Amino acid sequence: MNTRIDLSQDEMPDFWYNILPDLPEELPPPKDDTGKSLEIMKKVIPGKVLEHEFTSERRPKMPDELRELYFQVGRPTPIIRARRLEKYFDSPIEIYMKMEGYTFSGSHKINSAIVQAFYSKQENVSLITTETGAGQWGIAVALASALNDLKAKIFMVGASYYQKTYRVTMMKMLGSDVYASPSALTKIGRKLMRNEKNRNGSLGIAISEAVEYALENNGRYNVGSVVNADILYKTIAGLEARKQLEINGIEPDYIIGVVGGGSNYSGLAFPFYKDYKNIQFIAAGSSEVPKMTKGIYKYDYPDTGKILPMLKMYTIGYDFIPPPIYSGGLRYHGVAPTLSLLMKKGIVQARDYDQETIFKYAELYSRLEGYIPAPETSHALPIIKEIADIAKKEKKKKRILMSFSGHGLLDLGSYSKMYENNEVPYSGS
Ligand SMILES: *Cc1c(COP(=O)(O)O)cnc(C)c1O
Repeated sequence: MNTRIDLSQDEMPDFWYNILPDLPEELPPPKDDTGKSLEIMKKVIPGKVLEHEFTSERRPKMPDELRELYFQVGRPTPIIRARRLEKYFDSPIEIYMKMEGYTFSGSHKINSAIVQAFYSKQENVSLITTETGAGQWGIAVALASALNDLKAKIFMVGASYYQKTYRVTMMKMLGSDVYASPSALTKIGRKLMRNEKNRNGSLGIAISEAVEYALENNGRYNVGSVVNADILYKTIAGLEARKQLEINGIEPDYIIGVVGGGSNYSGLAFPFYKDYKNIQFIAAGSSEVPKMTKGIYKYDYPDTGKILPMLKMYTIGYDFIPPPIYSGGLRYHGVAPTLSLLMKKGIVQARDYDQETIFKYAELYSRLEGYIPAPETSHALPIIKEIADIAKKEKKKKRILMSFSGHGLLDLGSYSKMYENNEVPYSGS
């Protein structure tokens, strides 16, 4: 029946997949006019992670200790077939969900956080730092630091810190120190705090604080999306999925998922890209932050603080101020350079959906399949409808593989507002 497809621990791949040597053309390199950004990165990013960022090796090997860590946090994750949703659409589709929500952190983000913490620990430091917006990346880093006996200092965008209190509690339970950014802990934070307009913070400010704190305190800085190394580590999900489907003789016609910075979608899709010639790749973002459909392909800063080198990517501008949508993980202004290149080449198609639409799909999915998706994850669900309509018209079976990037149990605050207001909660307050 294939309702649930598992992999054993032995079957979990012991390598990651690096798409760089297989791209249709060479990836435009990071641009750093002053040379200052790369200098700082060399000091705060673990050497192995920096090496992985630029490697041309196709299948970098995963150390055994890391395999054990992956097992501990819930890998390999199952693929669950969404039969009730298939029936609902009344169309010859098969829907296979790669369940990244089944991991301890509740999302795919742990796939990379655990690796970066591990390589940080190898450099004999005791401290890692990072920034987090809505908190999912922060939770993953907190979990990864706990399992690697590290202290994590997490700079969380001020506005989210006071809104997403359960996420802050989760990070604290896992032993991390969490600060509302801008904070008094860093020079840049103290300076920015004086100006009332910075009080809510931003991802850019939080990045600046995390990098400064790592620099000043012999820590390592961990990056949560967009960059090649982060995507490399997240390909564990796609490599597993490929094996799960191949063992069962299932070849997907479509691979779909959502894009914040692009690592979740790329992590699932990239391992299929070279060997499967007939797959259609479709990725979705949010209409409130429409980089997927309205972005421009150009060099731009990955962070508002302009600390990191510029990257060539689809972007709506590093100074874009996103509305306070509930899908915090999709608020990012750009798309990872590797994924951007595939979009530019027409290999990956883009969609954007609004909050109103995706809430309906989140509710539908919960009621049919009994599992509450994160609002971010739900942005891929309308693509299924689109494919179902095509399959119905062509009277042809279509198999869909979707990245189920996370569960929505830490998003109940957002979902409950939908019921309280009995209207679409665009206010986002
Ligand atoms: C962060 C997040 C995303 C977006 O991930 P990217 O790798 O930045 O594209 C999607 N879904 C969930 C549940 C997330 O937490």
